[in-house]
Amino acid sequence: MILVVEDDRTLSESLCKGLSEAGYSCRTVHSRKEAADAMELLPDLIILDLGLPDGDGIAVLKMVRNRSAELPVIITTARSELSSRLKGLSSGADDYMVKPYSFDELLARIRIQLRHFERTQTRWEIGDLVIDLPSRTASRSGQVLDLTPREFDLLAYMASLHGEVATRQMLQESIWKVRSNMTSMDNVIDVHASRLRQKLGEFGGVPLLHTVRGVGLVLKEGK
Ligand code: CA
Repeated sequence: MILVVEDDRTLSESLCKGLSEAGYSCRTVHSRKEAADAMELLPDLIILDLGLPDGDGIAVLKMVRNRSAELPVIITTARSELSSRLKGLSSGADDYMVKPYSFDELLARIRIQLRHFERTQTRWEIGDLVIDLPSRTASRSGQVLDLTPREFDLLAYMASLHGEVATRQMLQESIWKVRSNMTSMDNVIDVHASRLRQKLGEFGGVPLLHTVRGVGLVLKEGK
C-alpha cells in the first residue's frame, strides 16, 4: 500500500486514483497526525508533502525513520521550499519531486524505490543480449559489444529497469549525475542513446533500445 500524505485534497485524490489505476493500493491522509496513525497500516512506500497544516513533513519523515530505516519515502515539495527540500534529503528521504511534477515521472520513481531491494542483480539477459556488471561487458549472441564506459553505464541502467521506461530526467541524474532543472542534457542523452542503439544493432538481431517519444528510453524485446 502506498500512503499519500498530502493536505491538498484534489491533488491527493487524483494521485491515489492514478496509483490505483497503475495497480497499487493507496491511502490518503491530510495531516501529520493522520500520517502518524496510518503507520499502523504498514505502508510499502510514502509520498510525503512537506507543507502540512499541523506541521512540517520533515517531522513525519523523522517519525517514519525512527520506525524503519528502509521504508521508501518520496518527498513532494513546492519549488520555493528549496532549503526544506535539501533538509529532506539529509533527513533520510529516498527521493524528491518538485511540484508540479508529472504523474508518469512519479510512477517511474515509485517503481524504482519499490524495486530497490531486488537491485542486487548483476547480470541481465534481454533476448540475445547479455549484460554482465562485474566484468562490465555486454554481448549479443556471444559477440562482445565495443562500448564506451558511459554507454555501458547507460545500458546497464536500462537493463536494471526490467523493461520500464527511463525518463530523460532519470537518465540525467543516474548516468550523468546532473540534478538540475536548469541544465538540459537532452542532446547528450540522445547522442549516447543513438550510438548505443547503433552498437546494439551491429551484429543484427531485433531492436532492443527504443525511444519513447517525449519521455525517454526503454530497453526490451519488441515494442
Ligand atoms: Ca501542502
